[in-house]
Amino acid sequence: MTEEIEKARIIIIGSGPAGYTAAIYAARADLKPILYQGLQPGGQLTTTTEVENFPGYPDGVDGTKLMLDLQKQAERFGTDIRWGVISSVDFSSRPFKVVADETKTLLADAVIIATGATAKWLGLETEQKYRGYGVSACATCDGFFYRGKDVAIIGGGDSAAEEATYLAKLCRKVYLIHRRKELRASKAMQHKVFNTSNIEKLLGYIPVEITGEKNVEGLIVKNAENDELQNLVIDGLFVAIGHTPNSEIFKGQLDMDETGYIETIPGTTRTSIEGVFAAGDVQDHVYRQATTAAGTGCMAAIEAERFLSSEH
Ligand code: FAD
Ligand code: NAP
Repeated sequence: MTEEIEKARIIIIGSGPAGYTAAIYAARADLKPILYQGLQPGGQLTTTTEVENFPGYPDGVDGTKLMLDLQKQAERFGTDIRWGVISSVDFSSRPFKVVADETKTLLADAVIIATGATAKWLGLETEQKYRGYGVSACATCDGFFYRGKDVAIIGGGDSAAEEATYLAKLCRKVYLIHRRKELRASKAMQHKVFNTSNIEKLLGYIPVEITGEKNVEGLIVKNAENDELQNLVIDGLFVAIGHTPNSEIFKGQLDMDETGYIETIPGTTRTSIEGVFAAGDVQDHVYRQATTAAGTGCMAAIEAERFLSSEH
């Protein structure tokens, strides 16, 4: 017996702030959205503790609680939230074909992609041990907890340079550690780093080990030229070596930049295929915040609703 193919007006892929916000709007517009949560229900914020910069929570909120609240809000208006991973899509004709868990095929008139991005990590054994205990991949999110303290940031790109200058405003001292002698960051960003007195640059240094009892207390770095080790006394370590957008399954079907971020028409969430929208970190390498993800999730649902109603 062949399984009946399920039809949907709209499918939302991803359950971070972008996906759930898109769901709230799409459900309230009576589009009866189906949302697939993926391997990380609630998205990146479920890996953090306190979120202090999401509007509406004057005392801050636990990341997992925030995401459960968003889920409940999406469910309240009738979103069909499902556990499962979208394993492939076919956007070559409409309705779009979306396959969940390699077995279940759905057809959708519109799709919102909200699959987020994943921070790259150094791969040090100690790095995972101290995640949430002094190791972070988001200075805008966690920098506040290190006011007046000494921290280190790893990386040589725009993210590291930008986050180093951001941290320098909060922290006593910031070590900017990069494996090569030259930063990759834009000249403008480098200029800011070079003109910030409490940033100490360690160029040509490789992080070797993080130390500390329960929380981060130090970082051992190696001079790439002479292998000499140095112990930096720090309270926090920020890793800013790039993110990988979760866009693998859309490759070859949608326009992307060279690093895999889905390209959207500026000022919109429209992708290179009409009827497919992208929101949140999967299309944003600049802001990468829960609030901007939620904002673009809202945009995607409104744009999808207008697209669908323009057809009838
Ligand atoms: P994500 O939150 O990345 O969620 C992506 C979703 O897509 C997940 O649910 C995943 O399961 C799903 N998915 C992926 N692939 C598939 C698939 N094939 N099929 C189905 N589902 C799929 N931002 C702030 O504003 N404030 C903070 O304090 C803050 N703290 C942070 C702390 C940490 C440790 C980290 C890592 C990030 C933090 N951020 C913070 C950044 C914030 O979490 C992200 O900007 C935001 O979560 C992006 O939302 P998103 O909806 O685009 O995607
Ligand atoms: P990026 O440009 O890819 O830089 C990553 C940095 O991390 C590089 O310096 C790289 O070293 C280093 N790195 C990578 N893997 C490493 C490892 N395992 N160990 C140690 N170091 C490692 O990433 P990004 O800085 O996140 O920027 C991504 C994109 O967003 C860029 O296009 C950037 O211009 C853009 N961006 C723009 C702004 C802005 O305009 N305000 C802000 C942030 C980001 P190498 O240099 O040796 O390769």
